[in-house]
Amino acid sequence: MAKGVSIAQYWGAGCGGCDVALLDIDERILGVAEMADIAFWPIAVDTKLKDVEAMPDKSITVTLYNGAIRNSENEHVAKLLRQKSQILVSFGSCACYGGIPGLANVSNKKEIMDYVYNKTFSSINPEGTLPQPRYEAPEGELELPVMYDTVLTLDDVVDVDYYMPGCPPTTDLINAFLDVVEKHVKEGAELPPKGTFFASQKTLCDECGRTKTVKSVDRVYLPHEIDIDPEKCMLEQGVICLGPATRAGCGAQCLNANQPCRGCMGPTAAVEDQGGSMLSALASIFRTADNETQLSEDDILKLMTEIKDPLGTFYAFTMPKSIIKRKVTEKKAEVSE
Ligand code: SF4
Ligand code: SF4
Ligand code: SF4
Repeated sequence: MAKGVSIAQYWGAGCGGCDVALLDIDERILGVAEMADIAFWPIAVDTKLKDVEAMPDKSITVTLYNGAIRNSENEHVAKLLRQKSQILVSFGSCACYGGIPGLANVSNKKEIMDYVYNKTFSSINPEGTLPQPRYEAPEGELELPVMYDTVLTLDDVVDVDYYMPGCPPTTDLINAFLDVVEKHVKEGAELPPKGTFFASQKTLCDECGRTKTVKSVDRVYLPHEIDIDPEKCMLEQGVICLGPATRAGCGAQCLNANQPCRGCMGPTAAVEDQGGSMLSALASIFRTADNETQLSEDDILKLMTEIKDPLGTFYAFTMPKSIIKRKVTEKKAEVSE
């Protein structure tokens, strides 16, 4: 029976965890089913894309789009759902910042295709055949999405109303959003301003209960290299924790499991580049050789050699939203004869 409210959920380039997170809100999911029709949700409901195309514009109340924009299909569906939805939510870190799939921006399409189809141990591809966007089969023309050179975020391709970061977003954040939608639908309550993040405005360090006493550290450790004291700040024990550069709202889940934060909630509104912000926080507590307040070039080199995989450490979830966005490939200057 139509309820006048409908919800859609779609995955672009993601792992499926965000879809599961929505299913994971316990009995609240029954409330969602009671309040709204499911207009489109490929992992849960058998609605086809052509059904969505036939819907009137703005007929879907809320769409939660998870996953990054990696190929032409991701972008096409994002644009279609934008057109059909009143409210579009960038759901999860892949949609908000590019997430883990965004780390592919350290490479490019040509390198990835070559590696996957020619260079992996299991590849047997003597002719070097690569997937083609169109293929004439006896049954008719087959079409594949075109993979992009650069992983994009949802708001790179469409206008987004709200953001809910997290890998995946927590049950509490999802419930807080559903409360807002429910009050809007049932009582006519006003929606939050466009661009609102459904998460805390503070940093994770404000949410984390660990004690902070030491002012500087001598070296960097990987989590398995030391016995981490569960009461003390990770950073002060020399373990890189992205708490100072990360938005709160997850309940400090990783810290509660005695693991450092990897930054999945992304930066706070005050910070443009999460990795840069973390690097600056780290530099401020790293003990310099000569006890000067500024790191010398040698200090920086020492620090960097102790950090295995700096890109994966500082930009694990936000590479496509960082200032650099992707690996820069220098174009060779054209030489005129
Ligand atoms: S944000 Fe995390 S859980 Fe959600 S799709 Fe991306 S990788 Fe999966
Ligand atoms: S750096 Fe990590 S461990 Fe230390 S206070 Fe911040 S969130 Fe907690
Ligand atoms: S502690 Fe950090 S990495 Fe872990 S869930 Fe929270 S924001 Fe994400």
